[in-house]
Amino acid sequence: MLSDMNASTRKLQAEIARTQREIAALGPLRPGNLYSRLNVCGKPGCRCCRPKNPVKHGPYHYLSYTFKGKSHTEFVSKRDLPKVAEQVRTYNKFRRLVERLVECNIELARLRKEEK
Ligand SMILES: [Zn+2]
Repeated sequence: MLSDMNASTRKLQAEIARTQREIAALGPLRPGNLYSRLNVCGKPGCRCCRPKNPVKHGPYHYLSYTFKGKSHTEFVSKRDLPKVAEQVRTYNKFRRLVERLVECNIELARLRKEEK
């Protein structure tokens, strides 16, 4: 029984070490959700607001996120879109890794309590 627990402890420690290495290896990241939308400029006679077959401008891309309790929406140029999308994917991966790290540490603390 005790050796079972030691095996579990070692497995968790290995998982923690692996997760920490994965976190350390992450590239640039930023939180948020990307979305795109078509806009109407409001200039009289513009194709976007003509009564017949209006053609709106865009799509324009935005990143919205909440950080330290404050929400932000930021314009993202078409050129920057792939880069920002990658940063958002990295952030989501970071969150999953942190969650796994915390989960493993909670489990490890629980096992060590039982070992006493
Ligand atoms: Zn317009």
